[in-house]
Order: sequence, then structure tokens, then C-alpha cells
Amino acid sequence: RAKELGRSVYHVYSHKLHEELNARIELVKRLREAVENEHLSVYYQPKIDMASRRIVGLEALVRWIDEDGSIIGPDEFIPVAEDTGLIIPISNFVLKTACTQLKRWHDMGMSDLQLSVNLSGKQLQSPDLMDYILSVIDETGIPSHLLELELTEQVFIENIKSHTNFMHALREEGVTLAIDDFGVGYSSLSYLKHFPVNVLKIDRSFVQDLPDDKDDATITQTIINLANSLDLELVAEGVETEEQVSFLTERGCIIGQGFLFSRPIPSSEMTELLTRYEGLVPIQIIS
Ligand code: C2E
Ligand code: MG
Ligand code: MG
Ligand code: MG
Repeated sequence: RAKELGRSVYHVYSHKLHEELNARIELVKRLREAVENEHLSVYYQPKIDMASRRIVGLEALVRWIDEDGSIIGPDEFIPVAEDTGLIIPISNFVLKTACTQLKRWHDMGMSDLQLSVNLSGKQLQSPDLMDYILSVIDETGIPSHLLELELTEQVFIENIKSHTNFMHALREEGVTLAIDDFGVGYSSLSYLKHFPVNVLKIDRSFVQDLPDDKDDATITQTIINLANSLDLELVAEGVETEEQVSFLTERGCIIGQGFLFSRPIPSSEMTELLTRYEGLVPIQIIS
């Protein structure tokens, strides 16, 4: 009886594993095809000076446009892309596309508009990354100081040694470095000393329950104090309410990003948003 039960449990288990494996193989196959056929798109989400409501910069966020037109978000395919090496062509596509687009916006008169691009840890292991970044800056003709690269805390920590040189080299080229999802990764802050970091992005998880959650309020205040004393720029991620804006701006966090201002949108819609008012200066967002 027990043996029988054991066998059927095993059977169900292995069947489920089998299905998961097949689903993953299928996903890899579809993703590879999508990359080859460039069924990828770059969306942009504005970073806002919360007091004036002006756009100061944009974050490039990759999307996979499926055959049927549905949009697949990066959380669903970046992990697989990292495991299979597809992250390299995907990231190269994002960097090139976003920098080319930034140049167009600059040529339209938005010459201060800044651009952030996410890098994954796997990419940092590629010896060609630095050359690729420099060639894109060179070919597109964007000012390097307007390009910012976002790395999660996790990535900063792993391989501190090998990454330090890379980051210093980038800083020397004028490229800005931001720590993404700050606060969720590590308790030790000593790594901040090792890297030429310019920006901290407060993770959305601390922002979402502001101002009511006492712990999050304390953590946010602490990160603001830390950024101020280390002379780092701050961006609050995931700003969704005016109450959050008040809390953050009253405490000295100036720049915010979130659905309150705009969701990530395609370049055509972003062009509309950026040029909605005369003068082609980054616009005032009406939320
Ligand atoms: P991230 O870099 O922290 O990007 C912010 C994410 O938060 C985006 O999700 C954005 O849509 C979402 N978000 C922004 N404001 C709000 C808000 O007010 N409320 C809520 N609930 N969410 C908000 P998305 O586009 O799905 O990207 C998820 C993650 O995927 C990114 O997190 C980033 O780590 C990664 N990613 C995106 N594009 C790329 C890329 O080109 N390369 C790499 N390596 N990673 C990427
Ligand atoms: Mg990011
Ligand atoms: Mg983030
Ligand atoms: Mg994230």
C-alpha cells in the first residue's frame, strides 16, 4: 500500500518535473527566435523631479513582443536569458536602441535628457562589454555623462574585485553608475566605498507602504540620510501616490519614478509626452 502510494507520488512528481522542463525548453526556443527576429522592444519610464514635475531622465526597460502581439515583461524572461547567454544579444539590443533613441530626442532639443539602462551580472562577465558600451556611445554620438548604468546591489557585491576596475573605467569615460533596488540586497554597506557609485535607487518595496508603515518610513529616511552624507543622488522607485511624493520630497528625496507619473511606454508615446508642450523641453507631467 505504502509502496504503491510512494510510486504514484513519484509518478506525479516526475510528471510535473517533466512538464516544467518541457515548458522551459519551449520558452528558451521561443526566446531565441524572438531575439533573432528582434521581436523585442524598449519601453521608457520617466524619472521625475517631484517638486517641478519635470522629466529629468528615462529608464529603458525591455519588452518581448510575442507573435500574437502580447507583451511579455522582463521578469518572465531575463532569468532564462541569463542562464542561456541570450542576455548578451538582448542587452546589446537594448543599449543600442535606447542610445539611438536618446540621440533623436536630443536632436529634437531635449539635450539634458538622461538615460538609464539596466545591466545584469552575467553581462559584467563578458570581456567585450566595455568595448561595446564605448562603441555605442561613439556611434550614436550621445554625451557619455547622460548615460547611466543600473546594477542591482547583488551584482555590485558579487566579484567585487573584477567589477571595480570595470566601474572605475566607466566612470573615467563619464558614464554614471546607479545601484538599483537599493536596500533589499545586503546589510553591509561597506561595499559602497569600493565602487564609484553616483546614484541610489530606493527599492519599490520600501516606497509602496509609505507613509503609513513605520518601518518603511524609518528605512527610507535612513537611506535618504545615507545618500545625503555620501553625496549620492537618490531616486525613489515605484511612486504611486501623492502621499508618497509628499513624504519623500519633505525628507529630501527629489527624484521619483513610478506609475503616478507614467508607466513605461513605447518610444512613440514617449516622444508625445516629451513634446506635449511647446519649446521641446522635458515636460511637466500632469498626473
Ligand atoms: P527595475 O530596473 O527595478 O525597473 C523598475 C521596474 O518597476 C519596472 O518593471 C517598472 O515597470 C516597475 N515599476 C515602475 N514604477 C512602478 C510603480 O509605480 N509600481 C509598480 N508596481 N511597478 C513599477 P519591469 O519593466 O517589468 O522590469 C522589471 C525588471 O527587469 C527591472 O527592474 C530590471 O531589473 C529588469 N530589466 C528590465 N529591462 C532590462 C534590461 O534591458 N536588461 C536587464 N539586464 N534587466 C532589465
Ligand atoms: Mg532599473
Ligand atoms: Mg529597481
Ligand atoms: Mg527590480
